[in-house]
Amino acid sequence: MPHVITQSCCRDGSCVYSCPVNCIHPSPDESGFAETEMLYVDPLACVDCGACVSACPVGAIVPHTRLTPEQLPFLAVNAEHYPPRPEGHKVPPTAKLAPVLPAPRVRRGAVPLTVAVVGSGPAGMFAADELLTQPGVRVNVFDALPTPYGLVRAGVAPDHQSTKAVTRLFDWISRRPGFDFFLNVAVGQHVSLPELLDHHHAVIYAVGSPQERRLDIPGMGMPGTGSATETVAWINGHPAFTGREIDLSHPRAIVVGNGNVALDLARILTADPKELAGTDISDAALRALRGSAIREVVVAARRGPADSAFTLPELIGLTGARDVVLDAGDRALVEQDLAVATDPGVRAKLQILSGLSDAAAEPDRPRIRLAYRLTPHRITGEQRVAGVEFRRTGTEEPVLLDAGLMLTSIGYRGTPIPGLPFDERVAVVPNTAGRVIDPASARPVAGVYVAGWIKRGPNGFIGTNKSCSMQTVAALVDDFNAGLLADPVGSPAGLRRLVADRRPEAVDANGWRAIDAAEIARGKAAGRPRVKFTTVPEMLEVAGAARVKRRRLAIRRLSIR
Ligand SMILES: Cc1cc2nc3c(=O)[nH]c(=O)nc-3n(C[C@H](O)[C@H](O)[C@H](O)COP(=O)(O)OP(=O)(O)OC[C@H]3O[C@@H](n4cnc5c(N)ncnc54)[C@H](O)[C@@H]3O)c2cc1C
Repeated sequence: MPHVITQSCCRDGSCVYSCPVNCIHPSPDESGFAETEMLYVDPLACVDCGACVSACPVGAIVPHTRLTPEQLPFLAVNAEHYPPRPEGHKVPPTAKLAPVLPAPRVRRGAVPLTVAVVGSGPAGMFAADELLTQPGVRVNVFDALPTPYGLVRAGVAPDHQSTKAVTRLFDWISRRPGFDFFLNVAVGQHVSLPELLDHHHAVIYAVGSPQERRLDIPGMGMPGTGSATETVAWINGHPAFTGREIDLSHPRAIVVGNGNVALDLARILTADPKELAGTDISDAALRALRGSAIREVVVAARRGPADSAFTLPELIGLTGARDVVLDAGDRALVEQDLAVATDPGVRAKLQILSGLSDAAAEPDRPRIRLAYRLTPHRITGEQRVAGVEFRRTGTEEPVLLDAGLMLTSIGYRGTPIPGLPFDERVAVVPNTAGRVIDPASARPVAGVYVAGWIKRGPNGFIGTNKSCSMQTVAALVDDFNAGLLADPVGSPAGLRRLVADRRPEAVDANGWRAIDAAEIARGKAAGRPRVKFTTVPEMLEVAGAARVKRRRLAIRRLSIR
């Protein structure tokens, strides 16, 4: 009875280390780990102990008897990762047991290692976790928003609640001794890098890649055009995008780009609102989707089917959840690619694509059409989008699709950080293993590190940031142990005074917990995981009320004594 890894695999590798029989690969020390789309359980070696189920932070692992019909393809996906083996060999002879790397040991100094982490997304939280494995270490995590966890809250699609469950792990990390939150504090605006360095041995920037790459064609910017970033953020109730009007009144929407985020968007825009009503989608997005006239979302890619940017697990998930179709021309492209493709991962995607239904059939529910070899040329329409004119890629042949909404999903870019070098070409902070490097001197910038998307670019899954942050922390601890990091001149109390002075509306860990509890309570009545606050004033009111209550309780306790 093997266990099976399914769609929401975040590749953090926890399952690999929890497995007593070494049946989950690739492990973080094996080649292929960096590129793999998911991890796989070896069905012959698995002893069905379930240890991996408890270790997985996103509920991706299930016993094969509990797979839903839509998840059944993952049985073959897991098994096909492993080679046949000689009779009597449960584990492939080449498989090595993944070594558990020791946490970096921090030397005891006069002042305990104190680190500021800027950004509370996965990279920041995994960095804090790794640092706090060592006794005495203090970590202060700053975030510009009053709510933590970056794209897990504001990017991951609301119908992927098991992926969002990684926040339970982050909540646990935030309760570790030595951890503190300074939320609603934008570093660079409310406090500066030199001020953080005055109060910490080191600063790790884990600020992500917040900007969407722009599509520069005539008509972009017209009402009805937009980006995946802002639409996904609106769907997820990000306060900076509350109040957006996304017009869903036309029967067709076009998403340009075909990565996983494009599929997320297409899936949400074609969802039955009843299905979304049980998630933490923002109320505004849910209302708009209830009135949506969209019948078809076209996911348009510049290249051909073999170059599809989405991953196999996401494609399996999508085809299990929605009607996904191809027109005759695209089907011919799939068959052409399938005839010559040799890469097993590419072939697996093409085989699924070749089994999709025909776009000529009359749809009885909103559907998704995957379209290929379309290069956007211009947006048509006068006052607002009426359609998109493409050119068949590599030719001048025009292809016109009418639509009322056109969203781009063509990748992300980091933005420069005041006071730090920036590589405009790849939009990351130049670094070696997380140490920020000044290109002029080719030397590390003392005490400053990066982790996550701003370090390596916008790629990988939530769990990819774990090994990325562990590498950064290892470099930081080496520098601390070598005496290269100056002791802070300011005290923890001095830091709290500085933040309170600059940003009286800062939200601490208790404030976040009050917001979290209030959102969950609002959701309970409606049978939803939470109903999010989508404006900063609402969040601050809840955090402020909790602060007043705590103060009153403390005063009452003092007076009883
Ligand atoms: C739309 C979308 C959906 C995704 N869905 C999935 C999925 O389903 N599964 C999966 O495995 N991966 C998914 N990913 C990828 C995953 O979210 C990323 O790998 C991960 O979030 C990157 O982590 P990060 O910490 O580098 O950045 P982020 O998650 O972006 O976190 C950066 C944090 O820094 C804060 N910040 C920025 N600037 C400042 C400042 N000056 N001061 C203070 N704070 C600041 C931000 O507010 C934010 O909280 C998705 C990505 C996107 C864009």
